[in-house]
Amino acid sequence: MNDDLSLDTTRRGFLGLAAGGLALSAAIPPAAARTVQTSARIVILGAGAGGASIANRLMRRLDGATITIVDGSDQHWYQPGFTLIASGLKSARYAISGTGDWLPDGIEWVREDAAAIDPEANRVVTEGGERIDYDYLIVATGLTLDWGAVEGFDLDMVGRNGIGAVYAGPDYAEATWRAMDAFTDAGGRGVFFRPPTEMKCAGAPIKYTFLTDDYLRRKGTRTDSQLTYVNHSQALFGVPVITEKVELLMRDKDVEVHRHHRIKGVDAERRELHFETDDGDARFEYDFTNIIPPQRAPEAVRQSGLSWEDRWQDQGWIEVDMHTLRHRRFPNVFGIGDINGVPKGKTAASVKFHVPVVEDHLVAELEGREGSASFDGYTSCPLITRVGRAMLVEFDYEDNLVPSFPGVIAPLEELWISWLMKEIALKPTYNAMLRGRA
Ligand SMILES: Cc1cc2nc3c(=O)[nH]c(=O)nc-3n(C[C@H](O)[C@H](O)[C@H](O)COP(=O)(O)OP(=O)(O)OC[C@H]3O[C@@H](n4cnc5c(N)ncnc54)[C@H](O)[C@@H]3O)c2cc1C
Repeated sequence: MNDDLSLDTTRRGFLGLAAGGLALSAAIPPAAARTVQTSARIVILGAGAGGASIANRLMRRLDGATITIVDGSDQHWYQPGFTLIASGLKSARYAISGTGDWLPDGIEWVREDAAAIDPEANRVVTEGGERIDYDYLIVATGLTLDWGAVEGFDLDMVGRNGIGAVYAGPDYAEATWRAMDAFTDAGGRGVFFRPPTEMKCAGAPIKYTFLTDDYLRRKGTRTDSQLTYVNHSQALFGVPVITEKVELLMRDKDVEVHRHHRIKGVDAERRELHFETDDGDARFEYDFTNIIPPQRAPEAVRQSGLSWEDRWQDQGWIEVDMHTLRHRRFPNVFGIGDINGVPKGKTAASVKFHVPVVEDHLVAELEGREGSASFDGYTSCPLITRVGRAMLVEFDYEDNLVPSFPGVIAPLEELWISWLMKEIALKPTYNAMLRGRA
């Protein structure tokens, strides 16, 4: 790790914690309402950001309910930390904790993944064949990274021969840093891209391009290097005003941009990335790249009948109402997090706002009334532009910028305070969310 960088962040740490406190208090909902008596059987699929958070909140709100959480993973990953790990600023351990550390007392944790969901029969079947009947189901499985859709790619390649994969997990993010560090020592051709599907944290491929640019400059190898960003569509980001800013930054940083290219595969021996375009295939030679695969709902969800039938057919996001997050055909099913088929919001920051909405509608139903909470599409992405600078972009379904700190943090400016929000304040806020307290 670069000593200057660690000194920098330590010196400035107190300010970040102050900002973190601010972020947390802004996020805390009004004091929890009274406890509700019920004998309902509630099953939560997935114990990640959304699943752990709603589990904690429901355990506090409901008296007498049977709450079961289904997840075969022993590890919880703090995914917003992956970019920092892949930039040499944190170790892999920074993002790893135990799934059980975040689950409330009294919950039943089934340590297997769901293999099938039958929303007609109100039943989940686990990979080991256990059948779990429910009155209410909350789907919070996150998404699956479809590595197999990138021809020629294997996770064993990560960290060698210029191949990174920041999304693959904490250890792979650390291996990506080793590859990026070696690349930026020597310089060369860096090629970055995003997949053609919906994806979690759509700013992450852009941030990692800018971070690589920053390291090349710091090490004095930028002039001997070419950086290329390959986008699947015309717009570089889903919000027009942010796209304009990202395009400006790409120009300022001398990153060549290609549009309407969809990743097909990688030839690691020849160090080439292959893309499909409307005018035939295209190849880009690289010395360093960050593989981000297409992203889809997990197989059990895709086969369940819960997915949209006329949208995202190849991806399988579930058909929830975009404001209530309640399933449009199965009203005893709700969705939280990346699995939701809504126009925006595949970020942990969105999860923080999904959870109280689902809690409100579910608890209201148990009390025999109608819930009123509504999700407005809130999505937030600290878009890092270099080490020590970020833009804290926050937006809603209507593409409005909705800054949490108007007049304090300008969303489209590259600020040190926004960097601190990502580097220091985000994790405590995230952890508080897991406990159902943010
Ligand atoms: C590189 C990167 C950077 C990011 N940066 C940011 C950022 O700066 N800010 C931000 O807000 N967000 C960021 N995100 C996105 C954020 O991490 C996700 O949006 C968030 O974790 C989604 O929460 P979730 O509960 O939907 O899914 P997850 O947190 O992924 O949890 C899903 C859980 O479901 C489980 N599961 C999967 N399949 C099954 C099954 N069949 N049965 C049962 N359980 C199952 C998994 O084991 C997992 O525990 C980033 C993500 C990445 C990868």
